Amino acid sequence: MARYIGSVCRLCRRENLKLFLKGDRCYSDKCAFDRRSFPPGQHGQRIGRKVSDYGIQLREKQKVKRMYGLSEKQFHLFFERAEHQKGITGSNLLIMLERRLDNVIYRLGFTNSRTQGRHFVRHAHFLVNGKRVDIPSFLIKLGDVIELRESSREIKAINDSLEAVVRRGVPQWLELKKDVFAGNVKGLPVREDLTMPIQEQLIVELYSK
Ligand code: SF4
Repeated sequence: MARYIGSVCRLCRRENLKLFLKGDRCYSDKCAFDRRSFPPGQHGQRIGRKVSDYGIQLREKQKVKRMYGLSEKQFHLFFERAEHQKGITGSNLLIMLERRLDNVIYRLGFTNSRTQGRHFVRHAHFLVNGKRVDIPSFLIKLGDVIELRESSREIKAINDSLEAVVRRGVPQWLELKKDVFAGNVKGLPVREDLTMPIQEQLIVELYSK
C-alpha cells in the first residue's frame, strides 16, 4: 500500500489548515504552517487561482483523509461503511473515524499524534477491555476501557504526551485516568464534538459523482 513519506508539514500548507500531524512541534513556533501559510511549491503564492467545484470537494476529502492519516483505499472503505449506516453519511463517516483506536489513543493524550497512536497500537501496547488489540482501525464502543499494558508504562514518549495532555484537553466523550494509564469511553462522539473546520457534505458529493 502506497504511503506518503514526504514532509507532513507540506500537507498542512496544501490543505490551508493545521492538521496537527507532528506532535509537539505543531504547538511550537516551529510550526511550518504558522511560518508559511501558503500552499507549497513553485506556484503556491500565486493569487486569484480559480478552483472548480470538483477541486473544492477533492481538497475537503484530502484534508480529512490526511488528518486521520489514511490511504485512499482505507478512507473509501470507511465511507462505504458510513453510507450503509442509518443517518447522515457525512456525520457517520466522521464519527467512525473518531472511534478508531489510534485516534482514541491520541485523543486520550497517550500520544502526541495519530501517527504515533497507530505505531503504539500496532506494537500492541494497549489493551481494550483487558484484551490486546493491535488493529489501529478497531472501532471502540460505548463503555470500552482502554489501558496501557503494564510493561509499556515506562515508555518516555507516552509519559511525555500524558504530561502535555492539559494543553490539548480530552474530549467530553472520553475520560482519562492518568494515574492508572487508562481511559474510559463515557459516550460515543457526536458530530458537534469535532471542532476542526470540516464540510463533510463536500466529501459525500465527491464520492457520489
Ligand atoms: Fe502541520 Fe504540525 Fe507541521 Fe504545523 S508543525 S505544519 S501543524 S504538521
